Amino acid sequence: MALHRSTSVTALSGVGPTAAADLRNLGIISLGDLLMHLPFRYDDYSHTPNIADIRPDQAVTVTARVRSIATHPSKTNPHLKITEAMLEDDTGTLKAMWFNQPFLEKVLKPGTNWAFAGKTDAKFGGLSLMNPVHEPPGMNIQTGRMVPVYGLAGSLTQNRLRRMIVAALPVAAEFEEWLPSHLVKTENFPSLAEALHAIHAPPSPVVLTRTIERLKFDELFLHQLMFAAVREQCKMRPAHPLPIDESFLKAFVASLPFTLTNAQRRAAWEIIQDCAKFVPMNRLLEGDVGSGKSVVAAMAIAHAVHRGEKAAYLAPTEILAEQQQAALQKFLPDLAVGLLTGNRARIGSIDMPRNKLLVALAAENIHCLVGTHALIQDGLKLPHLSLVVVDEQHRFGVQQRHTLLGTEGEAPHLLSMTATPIPRSLALTLYGDLDISILHEYPKGRKLIVTKIVPELQAKAVWSHVLDEVKKGRQAYIVCPLIESEPSSSAWRAPPLPGGASPDDSIGRGLRGVGGRGGSASVTELGKTLKAGPFKDYEVGILHGKLKSDEKTSLLCRFRDGEVDILVSTTVVEVGVDVPNATVMVVVGAERFGLAQLHQLRGRVGRSDLSSFCYLVSQDASRASSERLSALVDCNDGFVLAEKDLQLRGSGNVFGDAQSGFPDFKLATIADIPLMKRARDIAQRLCVDDPRLEGHPLLAARVHSSFEQVHLE
Ligand code: ADP
Ligand code: MG
Repeated sequence: MALHRSTSVTALSGVGPTAAADLRNLGIISLGDLLMHLPFRYDDYSHTPNIADIRPDQAVTVTARVRSIATHPSKTNPHLKITEAMLEDDTGTLKAMWFNQPFLEKVLKPGTNWAFAGKTDAKFGGLSLMNPVHEPPGMNIQTGRMVPVYGLAGSLTQNRLRRMIVAALPVAAEFEEWLPSHLVKTENFPSLAEALHAIHAPPSPVVLTRTIERLKFDELFLHQLMFAAVREQCKMRPAHPLPIDESFLKAFVASLPFTLTNAQRRAAWEIIQDCAKFVPMNRLLEGDVGSGKSVVAAMAIAHAVHRGEKAAYLAPTEILAEQQQAALQKFLPDLAVGLLTGNRARIGSIDMPRNKLLVALAAENIHCLVGTHALIQDGLKLPHLSLVVVDEQHRFGVQQRHTLLGTEGEAPHLLSMTATPIPRSLALTLYGDLDISILHEYPKGRKLIVTKIVPELQAKAVWSHVLDEVKKGRQAYIVCPLIESEPSSSAWRAPPLPGGASPDDSIGRGLRGVGGRGGSASVTELGKTLKAGPFKDYEVGILHGKLKSDEKTSLLCRFRDGEVDILVSTTVVEVGVDVPNATVMVVVGAERFGLAQLHQLRGRVGRSDLSSFCYLVSQDASRASSERLSALVDCNDGFVLAEKDLQLRGSGNVFGDAQSGFPDFKLATIADIPLMKRARDIAQRLCVDDPRLEGHPLLAARVHSSFEQVHLE
């Protein structure tokens, strides 16, 4: 059967229902999808020396005959079985060793020939190849090349996925070039078909570098084209100017329960001035967590409503939408502030059926509507908006952000907000010609959050402190990097908590299990252990991204309302949850998180006048990670930390990891800003000449389809 781009993966030999389901979890249905599943790194086994030429500490592929093979228990560890083989070629012999894989004896029989790929080591009495993988000579899937390493799901293994992708490679030729041909030529890029082939089967490091650059350019170019297209659209539409009423603004400020910071005043004034113009505002309000962005937004909304206009406020999650609606209603007691999410409709503090809210909306009885992406769903008819506020704007796709702006008539003024401190230059590159206001100042009286690095062995003290705080009626967050334990031995291990605990010490008993079984710092496991042990008298909630959205929301609400004392969670708590009674944040496996992310997590506490604490429990004492964590102890300024993060990551970080503030690309990272600038310039030039991309239908189709992708969890 001929394979095509649209052929189902089940056409590949060996892909049955289980593998197909695992692939579907990775978003892979067709062979084309399979080729779009890009590796996140490579193991370079392209060096294929003769045995006589092999040196220690090399990654190599050796084609050799098995001379002998045997398994024996380790002398020092009775649970460890060591399989040793003697390999030979015409130039010499080489030892190979595997741990706990005795079944290899049945496969690698004496006299058979194989290609082995692995790293050499001189530690174990002479040179040996450690834990090599093997395959028939000349197969070149796991050996003899730059071997790609892919993200996996379910029962898939690297070996199986690599075989599938190699089998699907001919389909790469069906990917039509979507970049303008002159661009491919002037930039000296490989074609899309060549690039997709080479990313999975790189013929050389040089070609691989060019290939990665081309594919990164694709992502960045598309991103920039979306912005350019939206900008061109918006430029054509005038805005409704909202003339400034200073006495109204003064009265509003006087009505607040606190004095605005200077930064808040300045930002609010910039926004109000923008809104008085005929050109639509496009302003980004950046302010570290807790810097008080909501009240600035509230002031702009109050002013717009005072001028007889309507506003909308888009939030990334239900819990944040609820929180913001309540906060805005407090700042705007005389206005009707509505809430619309997938599950909830209310005006002020009165819940109502969705239909009733829609009737009020149609009758123009709601001044400001706060909501999640429920606001931009098809069929919802919003009144004409003069002001749109988008909170945590990077959590929305370009299109989602701009759907609220509509396409006809007067364009609303747009205020985007973010707690991610994006350096100004980066923001301009990312979002084009927008204006920026920064809240570089905290409201008075904020207490510094005491931040400490705790080696895992001393984590017991942390649990005792958490217990003390909950006993006082406070609440705590415990954040782990994983949802479930990773079975592999390379998984991050939970701290073998706590060092010298006596058996009747409930904290000690509770936590020994986690480390003792060699499990990982997973939310489910740590949560279970804490529930059964040290915190058994308290309410422990377990929160992670795999919960259903309403389960997540209801747990967060119970935590917010004080019904849950301790929330064990993945980083889903990162964005904006405001629980002033929470005073401790414990991050387990802190070295696994980026600086900016840790700073965001820390920002969940210290939201009242109570003293707050942040414990960074770390297993890895390497210099790089301790430098990173110390930066947090020393510094409380998100902007400084963001710059530091950039520095520490350096440009050696080729493949993407979660970058806060930087959009979530498959390949491109914050280190690719120069490439992004080039993509921006080229996109802008193209849009000036041909705003609707009529000369480039494939490009237009791709921009269009990315507009439809939804980026919400
Ligand atoms: P963020 O910028 O993280 O969204 P919020 O707007 O949620 O911050 O503000 C955090 C808290 O600080 C809120 O409870 C808010 O009412 C309060 N706040 C805001 N501005 C001030 C101020 N100038 N003085 C005192 N408290 C303030
Ligand atoms: Mg906020």
